[in-house]
Amino acid sequence: MLVKEFISKTERDYMITTLLKYYKVQNVKWKYKNIKDHAHFEVETGTLQLSTRYKKIKPNQIKDFLVTMVHEIDHAMMAKKYGWKKFKEMWEYEANKIEQGYYPGKTDAYDDNPYELKAEEFGQKNYKKWYNTFKKQDLF
Ligand SMILES: [Zn+2]
Repeated sequence: MLVKEFISKTERDYMITTLLKYYKVQNVKWKYKNIKDHAHFEVETGTLQLSTRYKKIKPNQIKDFLVTMVHEIDHAMMAKKYGWKKFKEMWEYEANKIEQGYYPGKTDAYDDNPYELKAEEFGQKNYKKWYNTFKKQDLF
């Protein structure tokens, strides 16, 4: 089997569509944006942002791409479950608690936010399954 040099935009879009459908968040607001990360869920507006910087993804970026996508999808699922405005309040409530020193040893309102830790755990736990699924489909 040939090792593909890049994942094309078509293949990337297929993976994104597959993930959004599987986790039933295909109706979440989304837009393309020139951002450094592969994707970002903007809690403030309930919008999933997809990066325009990666026209093609290199093989060594696949893991990061999948972890990031599944992480952001966790936010999207929370936004769907509670409504994005309510989820925004929940996220900010935790951020404020961190800033007020409520959690010993936690100082970063973003990185230490329980909803960020939850999403990252979900991403790390599930990316491998998708890596294997998409690899079997010969996408990379
Ligand atoms: Zn996040």
